[in-house]
Amino acid sequence: MRQKTLKRALVAFALALPGAAIATVAAAPAAHADGCYTWKRDLYQGRSGDDVRQLQIRVAGWAARGAIVRIDGDFGPETAAAVKRFQTAYGLRSDGIAGKQTFSKLYQLQDNDCTPAHFSYRELDGGCGKGGWSGGPLSATETKANAVHTMWKLEALRRGLGDKPLYVTSGFRDESCNKQVGGASNSQHLYGNAADVTSQSRSLCEISRASRDHGFSGIYGPGYPGHDDHVHVDSRRENNRDNLTNRTSWAAPDCGVSR
Ligand SMILES: [Zn+2]
Repeated sequence: MRQKTLKRALVAFALALPGAAIATVAAAPAAHADGCYTWKRDLYQGRSGDDVRQLQIRVAGWAARGAIVRIDGDFGPETAAAVKRFQTAYGLRSDGIAGKQTFSKLYQLQDNDCTPAHFSYRELDGGCGKGGWSGGPLSATETKANAVHTMWKLEALRRGLGDKPLYVTSGFRDESCNKQVGGASNSQHLYGNAADVTSQSRSLCEISRASRDHGFSGIYGPGYPGHDDHVHVDSRRENNRDNLTNRTSWAAPDCGVSR
């Protein structure tokens, strides 16, 4: 009886003090319930599975300059390099192993619908105001999945630019919307694979240059026809459903960005 009272008093004491409460929580086994996805094991080079795929989607924006992280479920050197860069960007120990710290950061960054903290389905689903993710060459599910991939890269780009807001002026476009805005006939926008971005605190050249370090294989900005008021970024190299060659294509001649 006495002991029980003491225990209760201690718990109450711990809860009353924020610092003490944190210490109590930290001592308990990690049981992170994430509304989107919860990883159940550490991931490193050589591992494979859907948990690797889920990780790849979220670190794709941390590929080294000109490289891409293939979303294939195989944790290879490209994925390890991206995990390292992600860890460095968020002040974590940079070892290329996705463990508790890396997953905690990802949980912190992801919303329950699996989009990253600063971008939303609504923002990417422009479609000239129609919305709904259909009317493109892929199914709505595939298009939406591409949009999530795009958003994680944008989240990385945003971080790379010093956590300053980026605005998406055009994301997914269905066929009629793409025609209406004069988009290329095989535009990555049709696939949910592209975003046109602007910023109030970063110049278009700063965005164009930074995009090279965040997994975008397509970048079009200032100096490229029709791109003086936004920067277009996309993931054309990962797109095997279009009829384009999967090559990096960067053109923002006024910013010294080309490839
Ligand atoms: Zn565009």
